[in-house]
Amino acid sequence: MALKYRAPRGTNDLTYPSSEKFTAVVEAACGIMSLYGYQRIVTPIIESTDLFRRSIGESTDIVTKEMYSFEDRGGEWLTLRPEGTAPVVRAFLEQGLASKGLPQKLYYAGPMFRRERPQAGRFRQFFQIGAEAIGSRDPFGDAEIIAISDHLFKHLGLEGYSLLLNSVGCSDCRPAYVAQLGEFLTRVRDSLCVDCKRRADENPLRVFDCKNESCRQAVAEAPGIGDALCPDCTEHFDGVKRHLERMSIPFGIDPRMVRGLDYYTNTAFEFQFEGLGAQNTVSGGGRYDYLAEELGGPATPGVGYSLGIERLIMVIQAQGLDPFNPPGLDLYVAGAPGTDRDRLLEILMEMRRAGVSADADTMERGLKAQMKQADRLRARLVMIIGPDELERGEATVRDLDRSEQWTVPIKQATPRVKDYLARAERPPAEDKDSDG
Ligand SMILES: [Zn+2]
Ligand SMILES: [Zn+2]
Repeated sequence: MALKYRAPRGTNDLTYPSSEKFTAVVEAACGIMSLYGYQRIVTPIIESTDLFRRSIGESTDIVTKEMYSFEDRGGEWLTLRPEGTAPVVRAFLEQGLASKGLPQKLYYAGPMFRRERPQAGRFRQFFQIGAEAIGSRDPFGDAEIIAISDHLFKHLGLEGYSLLLNSVGCSDCRPAYVAQLGEFLTRVRDSLCVDCKRRADENPLRVFDCKNESCRQAVAEAPGIGDALCPDCTEHFDGVKRHLERMSIPFGIDPRMVRGLDYYTNTAFEFQFEGLGAQNTVSGGGRYDYLAEELGGPATPGVGYSLGIERLIMVIQAQGLDPFNPPGLDLYVAGAPGTDRDRLLEILMEMRRAGVSADADTMERGLKAQMKQADRLRARLVMIIGPDELERGEATVRDLDRSEQWTVPIKQATPRVKDYLARAERPPAEDKDSDG
């Protein structure tokens, strides 16, 4: 059958059990952010286009090539959010969150949109979680933001990742470095791509974002910012490193890592995984001490990170881990032919109200087909009721994992089933799904 409608390129449908695993990964990550004292913030998926132009930067790839922007029917330019930090800082200012006490520690989880070329691990709609600590410049805040990803990776049992760290300086020390970089780029100009020639003139730091091989080679010898940092930035960077060491989080320094956004100051970091190919960064972030001011608010320092859930799930799968094998149903209520169906549905609803996940047939199936459906739903127990049993006030309960069955009085079925589910441990389920 030729389908008329398909999901747009670079977007995904998630179906069971992947959908449940996805949710579980997001919940695990959010749980860790709560552990670190962050509170959830929910902002719109659309924002004014200007917000991103102003914050991310006019000459970044995101703004020049990747945003989904449109003029709405009222003539207002809107953009599907390509990242989470600018919206959170915008909301921080608009909602006057500073008055509720600083720092404000906020986390978010939701879809982001960038019109990039789809490839393994890169989507046009992707799901990010992230956190922002707004109001403090203490390097402990940077280390804490970095620690969240490390904590999550360890919690999931992941290995083979490394943390890369850099400081991109401040408005005192960066201009001199950018000028120095600009001079360097003039010397290697011939090996730069058309985009990088423009970047070299407009915003030399952005040349580090180029994925072009000849550009990457050309800038491999570029001066790093390390030596150019002012005493204040050096001290701050040392503080971040000291806290990471005390947290036993190993890191490497990459003096040319700048991240693809203009708003970063001081700390920039990335967590990269081995064996993921070109899209090996799973989480990253940095400090943005001028962003609030740039957006028209009072000068307010901040630091944050974001993490791509799809990529994280790729790593979980690549490492053969399956920490979120979703449970199936607790109970399937099956009726033999001729059983009073209304009564079955009453029992079904009673089970659900008692907290037992349960389902029953709505397709007029025979008993054998109902058993098959129970299996498909990965039901733990099946309650089988026929007309005679109903008459006697009894039901048969079968444990599908253990192939055992027993009889219970229907009147006591709900507490008995609950009790059984609570006591008996389910044997490790074999994963019936191909995607692992
Ligand atoms: Zn500085
Ligand atoms: Zn280039």
